[in-house]
Amino acid sequence: MTRTADVVIIGGGIQGASIAYHLTQRGLKNVVILEKDTLASGCSGRTGGMVRQHYSTDLVTVIAKQGRDFFATFDEVVGGHSGWVQCGLVYMVTAKDVEALKHNVALGQKHGVPTRLIDAEEARRRVPGLNTDGGVAFAFEENAGYGDGYGSTIAFANRAKETGATILQNTPAIGIVLDNGRVVGVKTPAGTIATRTAINAAGPWADRVGKMVGLDLTIKLELIEEGVIRVETGDSYPIHTPSVYDFVNGLSFRSEGTGQTVVAEGNSYFKGQLDADSYPTKPSDEYIEDVSMRLARAMPRLANGTPRGGWAGLLEGTPDFHPVIGVAPGIDGLILCYGFSGHGFKEAPATGRLVAELILDGRPSLDLAPLAFERFAAGRLLRSLYKDDPIMA
Ligand SMILES: Cc1cc2nc3c(=O)[nH]c(=O)nc-3n(C[C@H](O)[C@H](O)[C@H](O)COP(=O)(O)OP(=O)(O)OC[C@H]3O[C@@H](n4cnc5c(N)ncnc54)[C@H](O)[C@@H]3O)c2cc1C
Repeated sequence: MTRTADVVIIGGGIQGASIAYHLTQRGLKNVVILEKDTLASGCSGRTGGMVRQHYSTDLVTVIAKQGRDFFATFDEVVGGHSGWVQCGLVYMVTAKDVEALKHNVALGQKHGVPTRLIDAEEARRRVPGLNTDGGVAFAFEENAGYGDGYGSTIAFANRAKETGATILQNTPAIGIVLDNGRVVGVKTPAGTIATRTAINAAGPWADRVGKMVGLDLTIKLELIEEGVIRVETGDSYPIHTPSVYDFVNGLSFRSEGTGQTVVAEGNSYFKGQLDADSYPTKPSDEYIEDVSMRLARAMPRLANGTPRGGWAGLLEGTPDFHPVIGVAPGIDGLILCYGFSGHGFKEAPATGRLVAELILDGRPSLDLAPLAFERFAAGRLLRSLYKDDPIMA
């Protein structure tokens, strides 16, 4: 057991792994990741992995853009396998979300995202077979894509390890030791690691880590379900066809090539109590049936597809569906990086770097004040312009 560390990161998801990667790249070697289970065993191994830059606020648009740009060269820069596929993304909205679409496209353009409004004819040309009936406005984001949450987490962690980090799997943080309100150690079943900097990157379990120091980090858990539909290769469409955010049928979907489409619906179908330690990891039959029908409406050429199950994971929602990044109030040396509310995959390359900057430089290169925990008590919640779909953030 390592007895001292410059930084102890609690959580080996993509956020913790990205932070460790960026810290070690900046030369800080004595970094420890504590993972209670195995790397990417939380949200990060179950993500849909879609990468868009279409957001309602300047800060998150820039974070998403920096995340996307990192994924575009991830495998060369980090090594390993991020699974990055650049395919572009078509948005199709109904009347109630036209203003949100236009606003987010303009915001993207302001920050250099290659995105623009298009018409229904161009949407159909870009996604052959797309049924645009009911779509009132459309946009295209040229350099969007998707990646592999598990592969990206492992790649970040492996590179951090090669550069000096220690990764302790099956090793939970069970307490944080304070001395006069400052972090001096993190407890594990194998002993205490002395450190002056701990990071809460525990995803859906971040509230439990908060309780270790008396902080109430309320997280609302919902289930996100993803379905997989297979079709005969002849009816399917190529892998570089743009993904679609379809607000007419309430779906997002993407081609994975070889006759396989991954499809998700915005709302949770699971209505029971959710516990981060035991939640359904498969989508319900009801969900699969419903998304199959919706997909058939959106893409009639996939109507003969066969549902092949899918997976489910947790949405770790904060009160405004945006993450918390910053120093924990009243506790020196504890940094919060949690609550990514269903969009933490794309943000991880940038947020990991920003947390590393916060630790090493004292202030990050982007002003993270809008994401401070204190915003909730102060009533400065961030808002999505999209109606009825908080994940759009
Ligand atoms: C089905 C699904 C689809 C999604 N789709 C997208 C998408 O298309 N695009 C996108 O950008 N995002 C998407 N997301 C969201 C994204 O996957 C998450 O926001 C992101 O993975 C969160 O990463 P994390 O590192 O914060 O959390 P996690 O990956 O959950 O990592 C937290 C880790 O902390 C560990 N841990 C907890 N407590 C302790 C402790 N006491 N000690 C040690 N370790 C501990 C856990 O075991 C876990 O491994 C999706 C998520 C799901 C579930």
